[in-house]
Amino acid sequence: MKVNRKIFREYDIRGIVEEDLKGDFPYFLGKAFGSYVKRLKVNSVIVGGDNRNTTKDIKEKLISGILSTGIDVVDIGTIPTPVLYFSTHYYNSGGGIMVTASHNPPEFNGFKMVVKGKSIYGEEIQKLADLIENEDFEEGKGKVSEKDAKSDYINFLVENFKFKKRLRVGVDTGNGTVGPLISELFGKLNLEMEGIYLESNGDFPNHLPDPVVPENLKDLINLVKEKKLDVGLGFDGDGDRLGVVDENGEILWGDYLLIIYMREILKEKPKSKIIFDVKCSKALEEEIKKAGGIPVMWKTGHSLIENKLHEEKAPLAGELSGHLYFYDRYYGFDDAIYASLRLLEIMDKTGKKLSELLKGVKKYFSTPEIRVEVPDEKKFEIVKNLQNYFRGKYPISEIDGAKVYFPDGWALVRASNTQPALVIRIEGESENSLQRIKEEFFKIIEKFK
Ligand SMILES: [Zn+2]
Repeated sequence: MKVNRKIFREYDIRGIVEEDLKGDFPYFLGKAFGSYVKRLKVNSVIVGGDNRNTTKDIKEKLISGILSTGIDVVDIGTIPTPVLYFSTHYYNSGGGIMVTASHNPPEFNGFKMVVKGKSIYGEEIQKLADLIENEDFEEGKGKVSEKDAKSDYINFLVENFKFKKRLRVGVDTGNGTVGPLISELFGKLNLEMEGIYLESNGDFPNHLPDPVVPENLKDLINLVKEKKLDVGLGFDGDGDRLGVVDENGEILWGDYLLIIYMREILKEKPKSKIIFDVKCSKALEEEIKKAGGIPVMWKTGHSLIENKLHEEKAPLAGELSGHLYFYDRYYGFDDAIYASLRLLEIMDKTGKKLSELLKGVKKYFSTPEIRVEVPDEKKFEIVKNLQNYFRGKYPISEIDGAKVYFPDGWALVRASNTQPALVIRIEGESENSLQRIKEEFFKIIEKFK
């Protein structure tokens, strides 16, 4: 069977259902995943799915494909992605596969895969495409069973979090998969919740469930201001990314959230390594050092950051994009629901507002993530040429693309792992520095593009 290789991406499989995931594709992917795990001596996997309209059908085909390889399936129903990750640890399962396209528009769907406690990525995902193209499948007869993982997950969290004060929390789940679960969970904790777009609706009629786009946080910001809430929490479609709004309606990105988390964790675990991606503000690095921790900057991307966390045995990792990983009292995968409770816990314990928790932290001026379209075949070459150009002219880090350090700021250009694009972010010590660096940087990028 021929597959569209483009949907086998760096960290997951994602495509337009009517083009790339139609017909028997999910069945053959099930066969490939079943065969892949069987050869790694795994005999049972967990399967879950998000609330998209196409998920149920895709999941059924996927499961029958897995069963045909002799692998057993535990079906945990409609749940956010972190519940799937949680289940593989909590039930000690050898693997799992989640049907989801995260925050993408309704016509998309896809798959995220875990084997032996870690997300598979890169070459390993390509191997699944090879198995399908070569029809290189195992055979057997697996059994399917069901488990109420959602209840086990909620009980786990209720046991692990106690709130003394009754915090007033705004929540926007963008009609994604998190809504119904968060209502039940927050109802069992001492929290007062004001929710919008909580009902599950795979058409996402209000806004796409992507809290990293400021436009999508507008309603949440208004809610927080209007009702004078302590905090606003925005969840992406499948619950692995968190967007936060403070009591004044200001957005806090992943890097500033990490500052709040790491200070608490370093009190218990001094001198720990804290992992963050190249896009994060210099403020984070400075604050980690001040708090006695070891800053470790790493490549952007879910599976890459997750692996670095385990490799370095760090208690905490995160990305600007709102993926937050706790390997402290938790299993070390990105879970926005868990991360939101850790934030509320700090607010409860300290009695401080979010803006107070960040008082004294230097405020840098930065651009949002800027994407410049370039062909997939050329993006890595362009970045290599840019590295060559900047090397020697300025101090640069080549961990992920080129992060160029100017005297009063930095500029990053890297190849997107998921799109035909260059990803650019710039930060300056002042508005003027930011403008100057931006002009200089873009001039050079244009030259090499
Ligand atoms: Zn997601």
